[in-house]
Amino acid sequence: EKEQILLDEEAIRRALTRISHEMIEKNKGMDDCILLGIRTRGYPLAEQLAVNIKRIEGIELPVGSIDITLYRDDLEKKQSDPKIHDLELPASIEGKKVILVDDVLYTGRTVRAAMDALMDKGRPNQIQLAVLVDRGHRELPIRPDYVGKNVPTSRSEQIRVQLHQSDATDKVSIVQT
Ligand code: 5GP
Ligand code: MG
Repeated sequence: EKEQILLDEEAIRRALTRISHEMIEKNKGMDDCILLGIRTRGYPLAEQLAVNIKRIEGIELPVGSIDITLYRDDLEKKQSDPKIHDLELPASIEGKKVILVDDVLYTGRTVRAAMDALMDKGRPNQIQLAVLVDRGHRELPIRPDYVGKNVPTSRSEQIRVQLHQSDATDKVSIVQT
């Protein structure tokens, strides 16, 4: 296995700080915004963004989580629909701006499922998307509003995301599997 480091701890911290500033600028403050982390690793990222925004802007954003599993049939190169296991909303999303947060954006199917689940719960004013890594290969017309790092990948490569909340270290690398 070949592993190449893309972002170390400092680089992740800086990327999240930059994204926090971009969010504040785009939303002209953060009134009526809710962060929604896609589990597993989108959730600690959403929590860190909330900490940053509190520090920079003095506003405490509600943070929720959504748990989605994708079933991929690699043999047939066919993907079935993602399944929503759990949606924890910290507040009503009616008329709010919901910012989805995930570690890696790939085909876009997970984000699409998250948007479907959200719109079953109410009518948000807007949905935005923040990802730590965009690895390309989109199959849907979905693009992130905030990106930590764009990483062109081949399908045989994998992005390994390690965050101290779950992995005892903060590191993003690319591995050839
Ligand atoms: P998509 O639904 O866009 O195809 O895939 C995005 C979801 O699958 C995200 O929740 C992400 O965590 C996971 N994912 C897809 N590709 C990768 C990858 O290369 N590395 C990691 N760590 N997660 C991935
Ligand atoms: Mg995921």
